[in-house]
Amino acid sequence: MTAEEDGRELKAGERTRDRVLLRGARVVLPDGVADDATILVEGGLIARVATDDELSSEARDAREFDLRGATLYPGFVDVHIHGAVGVDALAASAEDLRRVARFLASRGVTSWLPTLVPAPDEDYRRAVGAIATLMREQDEEATTVSDRERPPSARALGVHYEGPFVNTAQCGALRTRYFRTFADASSLEGVAAIDDPRAVHLMTVAPEIEGGVALVGELCGRGWIVSVGHTRADAQTLDAARGAGARHLTHFFNAMSPLHHRAPGVVGWGLLADDVTCDVIADGVHCHPLALRLALRCKGADRLALISDAVLPAGLGDGDYEVWGETITVEGGRTRNARGSIAGSVITSLDAARMMLALGARPHEVARMASLTPARLLGVEDSCGSIEEGKRADLVAIDDGGQVRLTLIAGRVAFDAAEK
Ligand SMILES: [Zn+2]
Repeated sequence: MTAEEDGRELKAGERTRDRVLLRGARVVLPDGVADDATILVEGGLIARVATDDELSSEARDAREFDLRGATLYPGFVDVHIHGAVGVDALAASAEDLRRVARFLASRGVTSWLPTLVPAPDEDYRRAVGAIATLMREQDEEATTVSDRERPPSARALGVHYEGPFVNTAQCGALRTRYFRTFADASSLEGVAAIDDPRAVHLMTVAPEIEGGVALVGELCGRGWIVSVGHTRADAQTLDAARGAGARHLTHFFNAMSPLHHRAPGVVGWGLLADDVTCDVIADGVHCHPLALRLALRCKGADRLALISDAVLPAGLGDGDYEVWGETITVEGGRTRNARGSIAGSVITSLDAARMMLALGARPHEVARMASLTPARLLGVEDSCGSIEEGKRADLVAIDDGGQVRLTLIAGRVAFDAAEK
């Protein structure tokens, strides 16, 4: 049923998303910053990026936002996030996921990949069903619901399976009892896929496990994106995984063999592999600031993505929380489980972006790391990931204090600090 048949076609007055004018911001473009630029959004897309004078005559009927004093970035894309605000993607309903998506929008995240830790088939199936429902609802709402009725939330793009085909010797906070090995295609039967041709499927794999390299080939053959992680693979196996189609490394430095001069490990291989991208948890806890700078220096902003790896307590503050069957304590922005290991982060992409800025990265490099590089990894860079004419108007305005002032998703107001 179309929106019209359903009688829910929006009236002209409700189509606030049709034309939006953003004035006065410093605009972070792919290669630098334009001061005091104006952006015209039409039909959910970035129609024009120009100086103020050029646009004032042709945008009279647009809804205007004065963004003086703010910096406008492309909306952030987080490819590794388990949950937030009390919700874990593995146990979430579509409504729970929407709460996360709303929270993310308030932090400037406009696209995300709900991420699942190793679990039984049944949990996977339920979780993927909820993600599919949210994706369908978000699609429908884009044309049938007004912003005020239901503000848009960060788009779920698909699913990221972190494991279960990973190395028990690099398990991190993952539950090893659900780890698996790969024999043939039947080994993937319990790993549910989203029945939607646009859905992104990403899996973090350790290629050195039994059948690991064959698994990389099998997944790539199905159109899945493979990232190498939770791994101690040697260089030969990493080369084989790359040959089979893996082109990314999951939370670089964490849960992988480190760089030693006599055993350069996955880290040494990754720093040198120019055709491989990496992502990092830029929270200042998982990686020392010098390690983050090293990654940026070696990989460059086009090969380094920022992720949150956030878990359920993100957005809730300090305390004890039940996550994946154990108690996780959050104290001063750090998580730890009963064994004393770090168990995910409580940051968002916004915090990661601020961290990289504080470490000296330039705004356009941060925009690439937080938006364009992850968008490219997921194959959605033609529609989002940078502020360029013709792309979807997924935008976040950040004030000088580092707080989000405005988030637009496809030109619709997802968060407006002035209304809080
Ligand atoms: Zn994770």
